[in-house]
Amino acid sequence: MNPAAYVGRFAPSPTGPLHLGSLVAAVASFLDARAAGGRWLVRIEDLDRPRCDPGAAGVVLRQLEAYGLVWDGDVLVQSRRVHAYAAALDLLTTQGAAYPCACTRAQLALALRNREGEMLYPGTCRNGLPADTVARAWRVRAPDASIRFHDRIHGDLQQNLAREVGDFIVKRADGPFAYQLAVVVDDAFQGITHVVRGADLLWNTPRQIYLQGLLGVPTPIYAHVPLVTNSAGQKLSKQTRAPALPEGGRGATLARALGVLGLPPPSELAAAEPQEVLAWATASWRIENVPRQAAVANAMP
Ligand code: GLU
Repeated sequence: MNPAAYVGRFAPSPTGPLHLGSLVAAVASFLDARAAGGRWLVRIEDLDRPRCDPGAAGVVLRQLEAYGLVWDGDVLVQSRRVHAYAAALDLLTTQGAAYPCACTRAQLALALRNREGEMLYPGTCRNGLPADTVARAWRVRAPDASIRFHDRIHGDLQQNLAREVGDFIVKRADGPFAYQLAVVVDDAFQGITHVVRGADLLWNTPRQIYLQGLLGVPTPIYAHVPLVTNSAGQKLSKQTRAPALPEGGRGATLARALGVLGLPPPSELAAAEPQEVLAWATASWRIENVPRQAAVANAMP
């Protein structure tokens, strides 16, 4: 493959240090890019200030380096890109695709929820702000049409945005631009051709594809890899107190991440350095081996 034909990325939210679950997404996107002779970029998704930890971005980048996950080019930091998201929102508003919303959380408490537990917006402000209210957030009108897409691991999928998602937020009432808008603007800005990320984002993909169409930018090729759950069946995250990646025994930790991706390394590599494990994994990588399941349990903490 022409190297320029593949640009991948890892886009962590710096809410804390990387854990085994985030390592799986990092390794999968890295291997898929390197096996294709492509570039692999890193983007820090730090728009959700209340959830981000000020020192975490630096910690995450040092962890990636320590695990041999060396990226190309400069790291893109979303908090420095607000002008680009504002320009995208202007374009959506000019098209009539985005509209201001005055609803408060309390007013929406009784709205229906989709299977992901996300609220389906009842459409209160869709045709204009009610009298004596002010814009708090911005939403995009969800079309009553199926968005079809192909995931390299999960196959052909579709979602009706109006019925299953509803009009969705692109700028939040507390200020920041929403993940859905920022990820689309930045995947396009960085020329991303292939997105490999955790399966928790699978059903965010149709919203992103819809926004790409509105903004006139290309749609990358998607693959969603399994999440790692703890012994209680919860996704590893800061909220579930997932332990940070260990400083020592990195080759063995990489081997566990590779096991989740259907690529357990041979036992001779158990004590190897990260670079050696990654070199073997790059040569052996086959996305077809990645389990088609949303989550893989990790018996160890
Ligand atoms: N920042 C998101 C996360 O850490 C990932 C976004 C993406 O890969 O599209 O869950």
